[in-house]
Amino acid sequence: MGIARLLLNPGPFSSVNRDVQDRRLAASPGIVLGSGLFSTMIFVLVVYALQGLGIEAIIVAGAAGVFGAVGGAVGSLWHTWSVRDASADIARAEHDARHDQLTGLLNRSALFNELDSAFQKSQSGDTTMGVLFLDLDRFKVINDSMGHEAGDELLRIVASRLKSSVRGSDVVARFGGDEFVVVCRDLMNEQSVVAVAESILKNFAEPVSLYGGAQVISTSIGVAIAKPDDQRRPEDLVRDADAAMYKAKKTRSGFAVFDEEQRLMVINRLDIERDLVRALDENQFEVYYQPIVNVDERRLYGFEALVRWDHPTRGLLGPGAFLDVAEETGMMAAIGELVLREACAQAAVWNYLAPEARGVRMSVNIAEQQLLDATFPELVQEVIAWSGLPPEQLVLEIIEDVIVDHLDGLNMLRRIKQLGVGLAIDDFGTGQSSLGYVKQLDMVSILKIDKTFVDEMGNGETDRAIIDAVVTMAKALDLRVVAEGVESEQQLKGLRDSGISIMQGYLFNQPVTAQMVDPEKWFESRPAAGPGAPKPGLTPLEVSRAFANPEAHHRPARRA
Ligand code: C2E
Ligand code: MG
Ligand code: MG
Repeated sequence: MGIARLLLNPGPFSSVNRDVQDRRLAASPGIVLGSGLFSTMIFVLVVYALQGLGIEAIIVAGAAGVFGAVGGAVGSLWHTWSVRDASADIARAEHDARHDQLTGLLNRSALFNELDSAFQKSQSGDTTMGVLFLDLDRFKVINDSMGHEAGDELLRIVASRLKSSVRGSDVVARFGGDEFVVVCRDLMNEQSVVAVAESILKNFAEPVSLYGGAQVISTSIGVAIAKPDDQRRPEDLVRDADAAMYKAKKTRSGFAVFDEEQRLMVINRLDIERDLVRALDENQFEVYYQPIVNVDERRLYGFEALVRWDHPTRGLLGPGAFLDVAEETGMMAAIGELVLREACAQAAVWNYLAPEARGVRMSVNIAEQQLLDATFPELVQEVIAWSGLPPEQLVLEIIEDVIVDHLDGLNMLRRIKQLGVGLAIDDFGTGQSSLGYVKQLDMVSILKIDKTFVDEMGNGETDRAIIDAVVTMAKALDLRVVAEGVESEQQLKGLRDSGISIMQGYLFNQPVTAQMVDPEKWFESRPAAGPGAPKPGLTPLEVSRAFANPEAHHRPARRA
């Protein structure tokens, strides 16, 4: 690549090129000047030395010519080397800027450049184009169990298998971590894209030899296809292929093609993402409370706080409609804090209204994102102080998978436990792991058995046996067991036979708003009388406002 061309049109990695060029070009005048000076100096010395001997001027001129030629040749050789070396440096820098160091494949930014041009060409050339998004299935397990070097080696093997599975004209890039993207251009039709995915899967089926052992690597592939009249932007194809990859992973189907149903899901997701920002600002979230009962003692054991979104156009949405998006967009911590505050404040109001409410626990679900914040225990401490709720009334529920993923972060849970707050493992039994980890969790006091087990209660002996085993283990570890999602008398009986007395489910009550909880009835107690007593049935917003100032805690909250 010529220096002059690069200077006129430095290309996408111009800052890298310019650095090298500048250094080389700055050196060039010095080289020429140096070789000129050197020749002149030699010439003057020769003339001076020969003058005294009276040699003819023609001989002096000849010598000068020879020295001049030598000087010029040296200068020009030097310059040629300089330019060549600069070109090699530029090519290297350009290669490094476009490629992933580990695998040698194109990197993410180079992928998007290639994708842009492939997309333009396919649109103008009336051809079909395919984008394949790959994610390795068990990469984390291999990386964690065999070490990072084995993980790196595996990624290199995957890269080479991918290259050998596609045509030379196809683009193969490492998108990041264990994710790869393939762009296939100039294809006849959709079937050709599917054929590429199938060929990759076939190639991957062959076990890999990794540090002496054979490993099977499996991958999930999402496919997005762009036909000539496609209205999407090139980067949308990667997004859509990624969405299809998730479907392939979920259904364990190997590959999935992005379709109309998924398109609507993506649009819905984008809408939810947009609306969530406003929802927080405009206080559109509400906390519902589902009773947890002690069936043996025939009394209320506690409540679980469950978030709902009162969406301006879609109506009341359950957490399944938006919590994933909130997690992915980083908004879960703010929503989680809001629920924690409202639930604690509401429980404190009930305490105030009915002394018996003080024996009732308030369970609040905690998301992974909240646990990733090292200051979370301080937040819990602050909310307890702010609401005036006795800490032993608060229980934080963490789902099993999250606990298992953060076994190295148990210190935080210990700090929360030291505040006097209870900790529960939620959805117990749904995680991928064995039960062995539970004994590490000495700070946990409650196991919530997932609804899937309760559903099977009475249907088969196996689930009964699992629940019996969980109860035995819980007893040995001094844990309290709560059964979730109890819907029928048959399940109730089965659970009681297994020795479980604390239950939650539609059989007893659906989640309800705070206004629907009548303290007189629910807590078997009369509300505190007198002019200072707040009225029951405050909206969560009113509860929050009532407690926004700790001094207002014992003052009546006024209805808006
Ligand atoms: P979870 O913590 O296991 O909560 C129990 C879920 O089961 C609730 O669903 C509840 O309404 C439902 N449920 C209770 N009894 C029955 C029953 O008998 N039958 C059936 N079919 N369902 C029953 P919901 O409110 O839709 O919440 C779903 C999940 O969303 C929760 O599962 C929890 O993991 C999460 N979630 C809810 N609120 C929050 C929150 O404020 N923060 C966080 N991080 N997660 C929350
Ligand atoms: Mg829960
Ligand atoms: Mg649960």
